[in-house]
Amino acid sequence: MADQKISQRELIMEYFEQHPHRDIAHPEIVDWVTVEYEQRTGEKFRDPDRQIRTLAQQGKLIKVAKGIYRYEPEHLIERELEDFTPQQKEEIFKRDGYRCVMCGLGRAEGVEIHADHIKPKDLGGKAEVSNGQTLCAAHNFRKKNYRQTETGKKMFIRLYETAKQLGDTETAEFCSQILEVFECNGVNGHIEWKK
Ligand SMILES: [Zn+2]
Repeated sequence: MADQKISQRELIMEYFEQHPHRDIAHPEIVDWVTVEYEQRTGEKFRDPDRQIRTLAQQGKLIKVAKGIYRYEPEHLIERELEDFTPQQKEEIFKRDGYRCVMCGLGRAEGVEIHADHIKPKDLGGKAEVSNGQTLCAAHNFRKKNYRQTETGKKMFIRLYETAKQLGDTETAEFCSQILEVFECNGVNGHIEWKK
């Protein structure tokens, strides 16, 4: 496939790039690419649906609804800026010794590692090595799935600050113990709390 002039995915993207900012349903794009692909390469386009889904998973297309996709050039640029490049990932891994910063397990133990955005992308976290940390698959999964606890952490930070202002050391100590549990379990580490 590599020696073909145009890949199937490139052809799909060509159509979307010609029609940006518009919701495009499966049949429209499938009809066009199957005809176009056969004309250009003399071959059949076997499974366009799967290729479209892959492009959406890669963030190149936005899935609007079932079977409807959209191309937003700005979305693509933003996404690229926010994602770590393979070089940045390697730099992050190397700095962290190829180990999860939470549990210390890593490649040496055969554990899969990920480059995580300390401040998440959707909160404006940049793709800079300084905003990256190495997490094992388990801790990465946990971090992503414990976002709803952010409100809790913020609430205890506010309570802590208030208690300190009021000189209520008992409540401040109570909050600081809870917040330390957040910290030492690496939950919501991007929300800064200073004792
Ligand atoms: Zn870990």
